[in-house]
Amino acid sequence: MATPLQVKQYLAAWFQMGKGVVAPRLPGGRLFTNRVMAPDLDHNLTYSPEFEQCWAQINLAPGTPGYLGDSYLEGTAQTIQELLSNDWDIDDCARCGMQVSMKVTGFSDSTCPCSDMPGLPNDTTIQPAEPRSNRVMLGQIHDRLSRLSRE
Ligand SMILES: [Zn+2]
Repeated sequence: MATPLQVKQYLAAWFQMGKGVVAPRLPGGRLFTNRVMAPDLDHNLTYSPEFEQCWAQINLAPGTPGYLGDSYLEGTAQTIQELLSNDWDIDDCARCGMQVSMKVTGFSDSTCPCSDMPGLPNDTTIQPAEPRSNRVMLGQIHDRLSRLSRE
């Protein structure tokens, strides 16, 4: 079973590749922002308010007004609701290395959105960014420097 966090990371990665979420119940029928990542006040790289808003709509609990569990990532057939069920998992695509939905049991009929992106895979593909904390990175630099100074 994919956790909500995995599904969120999966969508964030594909949003950065230009894929949106098809939401038949929404007037526009599509949820998308091309600003997925943004620095926060501490200059950590985090999800942008625009992406968080998309995710909040996608992640509404079943039964909530505005529930969009029947929405799905462009280029795939699995709804968000299915991804969060026990039958599906998130794994790496063998072709492009991006995260892709995989059926846990039986034959996988999952399709990776890369199947309609002829440019993938290639070595120049920019890997989607993930949230990171500068504090962690500064800590690593500090560790390295203090190790060097001891040598
Ligand atoms: Zn792929």
